[in-house]
Amino acid sequence: MLPYSSLQEAETAIGRPLTIAETLWFKYSANKSDYVLYCHNIPLIFFLTTFSPLVYVVIEFLFPDYAASYKIQPKIKVSLYENFKMYLGVMRTFILLVVPILLASHPSIQMIGIRTSLPLPSLMEVASQLLVYFLIEDYTNYWIHRFFHCKWMYHNIHVVHHEYTAPTGFATQHAHWIEILVFGIPSFLGPSIAPGHMVTFLLWLALRQFEAVENHSGYDFPWTFKKYIPFSAGAEYHDYHHYVGEKSQSNFAPIFTYCDYLYGTDKGYRYRKKLLAQQLKDGSKSDGKLQNGGTYAYDTGNKKE
Ligand SMILES: [Zn+2]
Ligand SMILES: [Zn+2]
Repeated sequence: MLPYSSLQEAETAIGRPLTIAETLWFKYSANKSDYVLYCHNIPLIFFLTTFSPLVYVVIEFLFPDYAASYKIQPKIKVSLYENFKMYLGVMRTFILLVVPILLASHPSIQMIGIRTSLPLPSLMEVASQLLVYFLIEDYTNYWIHRFFHCKWMYHNIHVVHHEYTAPTGFATQHAHWIEILVFGIPSFLGPSIAPGHMVTFLLWLALRQFEAVENHSGYDFPWTFKKYIPFSAGAEYHDYHHYVGEKSQSNFAPIFTYCDYLYGTDKGYRYRKKLLAQQLKDGSKSDGKLQNGGTYAYDTGNKKE
């Protein structure tokens, strides 16, 4: 809740007129408690978990020819029923696990110092904090993900997330509840190390969710926002991880490519890309040989047996 009773009082306290964004934030948040503002993350995550994967399904349904030209493994189709089944499972984990944790975690947000007050952060402050959050998420997620590929962890936990070798947006959170819990840690680590404003925190959660859904979309559209991020991993990069699954120990990083490059866990991927480039150059690419019709994949069907 803001410690000002009017816009004038807020302007006097800050020592300058409020910007349009600050006025809107004042009007929206003045009578809401910090707890209620923090709990906005629940409808936000629900909305993004539901609708951002749905965008890809709608594009596939309304513009099949356009979608097909960007499908990473075009010979593999995930039915609407399977997508819906994944969504129901994701929602079950969300309601039974994620929501209670979010409802109970506000004291930790207060402790690390995420603020709701005025002034709002500058664009530069928001951008630099988001960059830090992305870097911390990427590095931590990379090592947790590698840990989940140890034999026992893979076969008992991570295998659920790898059920589909050609993922769709709804496969983003299709995972064992322990994995959902553990992979949530990196998303809170950045804001804990470099705490900012609640607006930045909610924006971070939204971008992280968008980024994860894009990774699993199964499409390499030219307009997705990761295309504009240098050293970005992208949808095809993570799609390859799902395609090879446990076997290759490859492409673990969710956001950037540098960890896999530095630790040598992208060698198989780079080899396949090089091979394909050579095949295309020689004119020897045939859809029969390059099964799944995609950029690297050989047909195994979509589900791990
Ligand atoms: Zn994995
Ligand atoms: Zn995945």
